[in-house]
Amino acid sequence: MTKLQISINYSQSMISVEEALRIVLENQLPDQIIEVPLLEANGKVLAENIFADRDFPPFNRVAMDGIAINMSFLSVISEGDKLLIENIQFAGEPQKTMSGNGNCMEVMTGAILPENTDTVIRYEDLDFTEIEGRKYAIVNIPLSEPGQNVHHQGIDKSAQSLLIQQGTKISPAEIAIMATVGKDYCKVKAAPAVAVISTGDELVDIHENPENHQIRRSNSYMLAAALSESGIKARLYHLNDDPEKLENRLRIILAANDVLILSGGVSAGKKDFVPQIMENLGVKKLFHKVSQKPGKPFWFGKSEYGKIVFALPGNPGSTFLCFYKYVKPFFSGLKQETLKKAVLSDKIFFRQELTLFVPVTTRCNEEAALIATPLKNSGSGDLAVLLSCDGFLELPASEAIFEEGKSFSYINFK
Ligand code: AMP
Ligand code: MG
Repeated sequence: MTKLQISINYSQSMISVEEALRIVLENQLPDQIIEVPLLEANGKVLAENIFADRDFPPFNRVAMDGIAINMSFLSVISEGDKLLIENIQFAGEPQKTMSGNGNCMEVMTGAILPENTDTVIRYEDLDFTEIEGRKYAIVNIPLSEPGQNVHHQGIDKSAQSLLIQQGTKISPAEIAIMATVGKDYCKVKAAPAVAVISTGDELVDIHENPENHQIRRSNSYMLAAALSESGIKARLYHLNDDPEKLENRLRIILAANDVLILSGGVSAGKKDFVPQIMENLGVKKLFHKVSQKPGKPFWFGKSEYGKIVFALPGNPGSTFLCFYKYVKPFFSGLKQETLKKAVLSDKIFFRQELTLFVPVTTRCNEEAALIATPLKNSGSGDLAVLLSCDGFLELPASEAIFEEGKSFSYINFK
């Protein structure tokens, strides 16, 4: 058995949160565009502009079941007026023409409005009678304006107009629009192949009964669930803290994926082998250790083939924070992180020169400002605090006293 040389440099200098995020975003993956059947596009990012092939709606569409009349000719309808019914225009039939200006045509919702009519009166406002074998509609409401109950051609969008911009996240609304303009296939950004790897000898899978000294692994499930919100289906692995096995398995996993997200094994412990193994595998360190709490030991690197490795500290709070602060923006394709603001509800002292990410619960006050209340917690190992937490308030490393009522950047995940 070969012994791997593991060297841990305890004196590595840390980089700031801003610098770390800048490096992460600079290394976003190049877009890979694929064409997929429409239904497979849901949840993905659109990679083409979608234009209207016809007007929306494409013809003057009857919007209620009832009768169509020519109000431009009649100009006024009084209660009790009787109109001869000439014909019926059903949905799906080619346009018919009303020959008598003072007559009416029965029309159904979704039908094209008959030629020589401009207004629809719904059945609810009508009675019917038959005189000498001819059918008449009796109108129960007065009317003086033309155009009611007609969905006019082009009123919503005109032909050739831009309907959906590329870069839009596709939801059922975009699917409906693309269906109506006849996009049976559309171009989307391909989701990268992502592996989520938990490490640690103390971790057992969720269907197992842990011994006293063991815990079930939660990070990989959390990461996979969070990634699925970004449209990424990750493959899950677990590796023990055995350097040789770690290196061999990680070599294979690296070859088969675009991005690796590891949790655990990047701190200063005697079995924290991940940074060294990554370098052995040709993944160049872009940074190790960020001046933040939680998540200080965060390691980030890139292989010569452009594969990206996020090696996150294993404490659940650290993994969680690092995902939402760095990994999610990396996958979102944004060149800059878009941060919300929230107002701190209680004064905080924090004297270390680290950016402090405080788990908070939030509410809106009367002025619709977001108020963030820090949650008591026992540090980055406190998994349970995440249940009542809406996000993290980002308190900058440059300050030590954070006054209540002051506004800070806020990362939310609920
Ligand atoms: P490490 O970063 O490997 O030093 O781990 C730090 C702490 O996080 C240890 O208490 C681990 O047991 C815990 N931890 C690491 N990975 C996971 C995981 N996948 N799920 C839950 N806890 C973990
Ligand atoms: Mg570990």
